[in-house]
Amino acid sequence: MSNILLKVDGLKKSFFIPDGMFGKKKMLKAVHDVSFMIPEGKTFSLVGESGCGKSTTGRLISRLIEPSEGEVWIDGEDVSRKKESQLKAMRKKVQMIFQDPYASLNPRMKVRDIVGEPLAIHTKLSRAERYKQVAEILEVVGLNEYHANRYAHEFSGGQRQRIGIARALIMKPRLIIADEPVSALDVSIQAQILNLLKDLQSEFHLTYLFISHDLSVVEHISNYIGVMYLGTIVESGPKEAIFSNPKHPYTKALLSSIPIPDPKLRRERIILQGDLPSPVNPPSGCRFHTRCPAAMGICKVKEPSVYRDPATGHVTACHLVES
Ligand code: SF4
Repeated sequence: MSNILLKVDGLKKSFFIPDGMFGKKKMLKAVHDVSFMIPEGKTFSLVGESGCGKSTTGRLISRLIEPSEGEVWIDGEDVSRKKESQLKAMRKKVQMIFQDPYASLNPRMKVRDIVGEPLAIHTKLSRAERYKQVAEILEVVGLNEYHANRYAHEFSGGQRQRIGIARALIMKPRLIIADEPVSALDVSIQAQILNLLKDLQSEFHLTYLFISHDLSVVEHISNYIGVMYLGTIVESGPKEAIFSNPKHPYTKALLSSIPIPDPKLRRERIILQGDLPSPVNPPSGCRFHTRCPAAMGICKVKEPSVYRDPATGHVTACHLVES
């Protein structure tokens, strides 16, 4: 097996949020005991409904927010307890791409300064040297030097995401955390950006943590998938295992909502009842039991343990598949 570039072990994050008047607070458990690893040069996708904790997990790994518990190992080094002053090297290795490229690009800066800003922060390169590297990286993402002198608002959504990717690439990172990078784009543009990310991965041997609410989007880019529900991973494993042999009822429901292009083929849609429960007061036992079509009596009282298939690495947390 290749080198493990990212290892996340028992990651937890709780926030205190206001609870009515009189300054009272209540605890929101956004991420609850998340563990997974990504071999170098591969893509692990975290998938789940909005509010399941996948974006918070990405931000914890990149240390945009502080973990409450757990460890994050990047390239063999535990970065979870490092102080901000010790994180400079890690910040060069890990870069993020965000959902809304327009919101993440400063409208008052020219593209050459947006893309070159990490070089200005982390290196002593002269302005001319920075602009030379910017021109090179713009070519790599399908733009050119002409675009460097323009402002972000002059570009289409797909072009803006290319600028965001160029900015992420300019520090030659090892790990890219892409948080819903195509969900704001038209379907045809989504395919272009996904293909670009795949090409860049093989050219620069990049490792991706890809975050999406949509299993169909991650199908073509992932090697491994983790399905998140209410702050925890309920099923994970190689992409083929998740798509061809899903075991958790939540994964089955997500897969059933993917349209099949062939009109002769039909798939029974599993409609989940109700909304995602609040992470402030998660259901007892299995967190999914209030919406699970296969829930049994035990599911309300006992949290399922995690079963790992030693042959395939397929991991499931459900009483139905416990050995
Ligand atoms: Fe459904 Fe029970 Fe499995 Fe939870 S443990 S997913 S409620 S069957």
